[in-house]
Amino acid sequence: MGPVNSAVLRAPAIAPPLRVAFPLRQIQGDTSVKPSLLGPAPSISARHSKAPTREARNAAVNWKCCLASSLLVVLLLASLAPAARGQETDRTWYRGNLHTHSLWSDGNDFPEMIADWYKSNGYHFLGLSDHNILSRGERWIAADTPQKRGAIQGIERYQARFGADGVETREVDGVAQVRLKNLDEVRGLLEEPGQFILIESEEITDSFENLPIHINATNIGELVRPQGGSSVRDTIDANLRAVEAQRIKLGRPILPHLNHPNFGWGVSALDLAAVERERFFEIFNGHPSVRQLGDDTHPSLERFWDIANTLRLSHYKTAPLMGLATDDSHHYFGGQGPTPGRGWVQVRAEALDPTKLLEAMEAGDFYASTGVTLREVSWDPVKAEVRIEIAPEEGVTYEIQFIGTRRLDAAGFELTEETTPTDLPETWGAVLETVTGTEGSFIVRDEFLYVRAVVISSKPHPNPAWSGQVEQAWTQPMGWRLPIPATPE
Ligand SMILES: [Zn+2]
Ligand SMILES: [Zn+2]
Repeated sequence: MGPVNSAVLRAPAIAPPLRVAFPLRQIQGDTSVKPSLLGPAPSISARHSKAPTREARNAAVNWKCCLASSLLVVLLLASLAPAARGQETDRTWYRGNLHTHSLWSDGNDFPEMIADWYKSNGYHFLGLSDHNILSRGERWIAADTPQKRGAIQGIERYQARFGADGVETREVDGVAQVRLKNLDEVRGLLEEPGQFILIESEEITDSFENLPIHINATNIGELVRPQGGSSVRDTIDANLRAVEAQRIKLGRPILPHLNHPNFGWGVSALDLAAVERERFFEIFNGHPSVRQLGDDTHPSLERFWDIANTLRLSHYKTAPLMGLATDDSHHYFGGQGPTPGRGWVQVRAEALDPTKLLEAMEAGDFYASTGVTLREVSWDPVKAEVRIEIAPEEGVTYEIQFIGTRRLDAAGFELTEETTPTDLPETWGAVLETVTGTEGSFIVRDEFLYVRAVVISSKPHPNPAWSGQVEQAWTQPMGWRLPIPATPE
């Protein structure tokens, strides 16, 4: 790990408006905050495209939240705005993909063609996140580049969509070139307030020795060059520190998330557990080459998440990871490669703008999906109850798994330099309860470190990343506390 930053850097530059008691509010890092955490009895629910319930509004009036890092004794007191009853604004679920490549790096289509695809396929926001580059200024590429990357009549399709006048070409030393539109130009063509926005992004593409370490920075304002480091963990941390520094400098939220940890077996569950600054990672990445399912010596991402979260809560005493689903799309002409539409996030925010979306994500108010839509995700802190309700599709059946780790199963485990992810108890990330149907709830009793829900549908994914993939959804871990209570004898 690299040097430890100050408390100020670790906390969001803009305190998230935690109007809903979601995962972050569950940290009890300071006894002075406890009374408010034990306060009123809000029953908090979030429904798709519906105004908050009266209870939620009441809760928003009374609720206080805090986020602390017990290691650094960092306390972010993200107090809920003392809004008067009735001033709570409506929050809506917005769908977006935060990992996308275009011809600005190694994708095979033009950025406005890609944005047009997402906009016309039901997405509200998109991060064009090319490798180590921002789509700014003037950039020309050889006109046959799309074709060399598998595009089928890419220029012709582009001209057909945006008109011959919308496509700039030239010839330099006998080579035909085409100009790539920059982000401002693409925004001018496709953004519509309240309907569709583009968020400036970069895939910071780093490595340690031969191990790939890729981190997306969403809502970035200046290029972040790969920072390098003395180990995998130090490299992750160095890049996160660079993003944090920019966030402070620009005074706006920038959300880093670690991409496809199993790609090239670059980042292990033990690494992600250890880097305290890390908070977000890809539980699903649509690229077929990222080894989502693991192998004999590397856990699947599903188990990866539980290993990391169990160690973070029980050993490192830090907040668990939150999971995103993304496309990592590169190819836009069909086929089995990294094509769009496989995974996304649904974020419940007050408005469709980057700040509101990222604040909601930092508050844990989002879920990852590869096709399943949730009508409701709620956390009732008094009953300690997770509740979810699925927006069902006709003819599709659903299994809801509540997954978590018992404190007793994590207690006493000795993490050493020699520990590998395959050494860890199978009881970590156990399926605690399975419900067949379209709604389910689970009481997160004191015996659990955390609980998360996964919905597994019977519907085959229409564009699978692996053979046999079905549509799923993943909630964030809920019911966790820091510091964790003493383990009963
Ligand atoms: Zn990558
Ligand atoms: Zn990528």
